[in-house]
Amino acid sequence: MPVFRKDPCGITCIILTYCAIFYADYVVINWIILQTMRNSLWGAVHVLFFNTVIFLTIMSHLRAVLSDPGIVPLPQSRIDFSDMHSGGEQNNDWTVCARCEMYRPPRAHHCRICQRCIRRMDHHCPWINNCVGEWNQKYFLQFLMYVGVLAFYAIFLIAYSWLKDCHDCAKDMITKQGRVLHTVILTMESILFGMFVVAILFDQMQAIFTDETAVEQVKKQGPYRAHRPKMVLLREVCGRGDPALWVFPCTSSPKNLEPAFTMVA
Ligand SMILES: [Zn+2]
Ligand SMILES: [Zn+2]
Repeated sequence: MPVFRKDPCGITCIILTYCAIFYADYVVINWIILQTMRNSLWGAVHVLFFNTVIFLTIMSHLRAVLSDPGIVPLPQSRIDFSDMHSGGEQNNDWTVCARCEMYRPPRAHHCRICQRCIRRMDHHCPWINNCVGEWNQKYFLQFLMYVGVLAFYAIFLIAYSWLKDCHDCAKDMITKQGRVLHTVILTMESILFGMFVVAILFDQMQAIFTDETAVEQVKKQGPYRAHRPKMVLLREVCGRGDPALWVFPCTSSPKNLEPAFTMVA
């Protein structure tokens, strides 16, 4: 079921994201390729490659935005808190969310923006207007990776277009000034977003390999389980599919990796 939160900060960030992506495409095609590689086959190749990466960026972004991050379903009836102190048959790893008034599986945390408990919640990310949790972290990582690739690709094209000896470049002042202006803005945008996503990607990988989400780092609850192989940890995020397909936003989510925790009656 697609989820979309009416959070003004999240909606603003999503609009900003798409403006930045389409602006980069406009500058690359209109001010770099058409100005400096109009008569070479490389121009067409770069347009094709750059737009393929943009397509994958948008696909992974939409999946991160619209996927259920792992919302813990609300019980049919509210739990009776007087039971809690009597021990009951509750599994020790399960905790109680006072806001949702229910038991939740291990590693689930309450998100104040989503107003629900999220399975293995990492953090609430305004850039995807959604929580990063067990079921959509894969798409979030893909999105970060593709934005990083776009940023480095744009910087490479800008540098290449200025360094190469240009015979078919426009010589008039207005066009030249436009080219300078747009490539400077795109360079700044690419450096800013490029560094931002690389830093977050690095943090995310560290969190996966230490088996401790951002929420758990803050609450000092992790690492949850000691020393498991990196491949096992990655599989929990990326799913059972072939590792070669993990980078594509088209394979199934890790939702099907393990049977869902059965709700406690
Ligand atoms: Zn909750
Ligand atoms: Zn959230």
